[in-house]
Amino acid sequence: MELILPPKLADELRVLYEDMEKAYDGVARRLGHSCDGCPDNCCDSYFLHHTYIEWAFLWQGLSALPEDHRRVLVSRANAYELEAQKLIARGKRPKLMCPLNEDGRCSLYTHRLMVCRTHGVPASMTRPDGKQLKFPGCFRCQELVVDQGFAEHELPLMERTELLQRLVSLEQEFLLGKRHIAPKVKRTISAMLIGGVPELPHCSDRTGKC
Ligand code: SF4
Ligand code: SF4
Repeated sequence: MELILPPKLADELRVLYEDMEKAYDGVARRLGHSCDGCPDNCCDSYFLHHTYIEWAFLWQGLSALPEDHRRVLVSRANAYELEAQKLIARGKRPKLMCPLNEDGRCSLYTHRLMVCRTHGVPASMTRPDGKQLKFPGCFRCQELVVDQGFAEHELPLMERTELLQRLVSLEQEFLLGKRHIAPKVKRTISAMLIGGVPELPHCSDRTGKC
């Protein structure tokens, strides 16, 4: 596997991802929520992702796949982006299956991004400016909340603030403290596949030894 992230950062990102899963599972358990048997598949949601570190970790997973498989995924990503841009130009929000989804399953499950790990259950977060945001969760979770008659103050919520702060801190470390000058990342998973391993603007050695 190509070493794209310094091992320490890759380990810390894995721990963060595990913590996200624990937080998600805790809320899902309290609601009795599961994706099993859902008629929908959220992997066709149009999401943008914002960190170099997750982009690099995704490529660390991709680099471990056989060349042929990787080529198929990148080719699917190209088709996705073409179609997505056409829809966006017509003022529509794309609803297209993620190129990494194969037969309903994520082909890079261990390397999927934060949004893939947090989407679904009701959640809350506090923005840096202090504004509190609440997310109701997917339609199945919203039905469960209504069926079980949760009062608003009892509603189990996945608290995202600390998890996001940790991601930002890992991103800052990956960018050697230069996050403020790095071009903003605003990419679909497809665009991350097409873009290849992210080039860090200030550093030619991606393992962070420079
Ligand atoms: S998150 Fe909700 S809508 Fe999405 S697949 Fe799971 S149950 Fe279905
Ligand atoms: S990366 Fe995996 S989990 Fe995330 S949208 Fe794509 S297929 Fe689904």
